Amino acid sequence: MVELISWEQALIRSHQKLFVRSFHGAPFAPGFPKCGPGWRRIVIKLVDRVSNAAADYPVRFVQISEKWGRLEIYWTAKVGLPQEVEHAIDEAVALAEAASVCTCSSCGAEGQLFSDYGCLVTACVDHARGTPVLTPLGFANAHIVREYVETDIPIARCRRYDRTLDAFVDVDPEALL
Ligand SMILES: [Zn+2]
Repeated sequence: MVELISWEQALIRSHQKLFVRSFHGAPFAPGFPKCGPGWRRIVIKLVDRVSNAAADYPVRFVQISEKWGRLEIYWTAKVGLPQEVEHAIDEAVALAEAASVCTCSSCGAEGQLFSDYGCLVTACVDHARGTPVLTPLGFANAHIVREYVETDIPIARCRRYDRTLDAFVDVDPEALL
């Protein structure tokens, strides 16, 4: 008999270390993804990236969910992580959150934020409801990030998420003014 399981269940099965914990002896996964099917690829990529970055460290997702039209992702680690591991996980999370902001949560096509009577949803033209939420010119997908370059003193950088590359690219902050 072929067992039918959802993509979320399949993902958790193949990455149990990142998801499953025990509560009174019963396994459960607080980080079970709760989002539209359009973000499936984003979540799978996130989990692959975190799996590679975390390697043998006890890292676990505590939340992957759709909130205010974007993915909200939280994770925890049982032990202190080397700085480069923590940064790699944070980068994977930032990429997934940035991808969700410009991807339709229903079908995965390019999308933008809409407000439907106060309910925020990221959607393509076909799945849009309500009115588009406009971003100030130049600020679409722009992120101000703090980076630590071989020092403990953070420097501010401005990056923009490139949906085609699925990567951040540097932006001159002056260009946003
Ligand atoms: Zn769509």
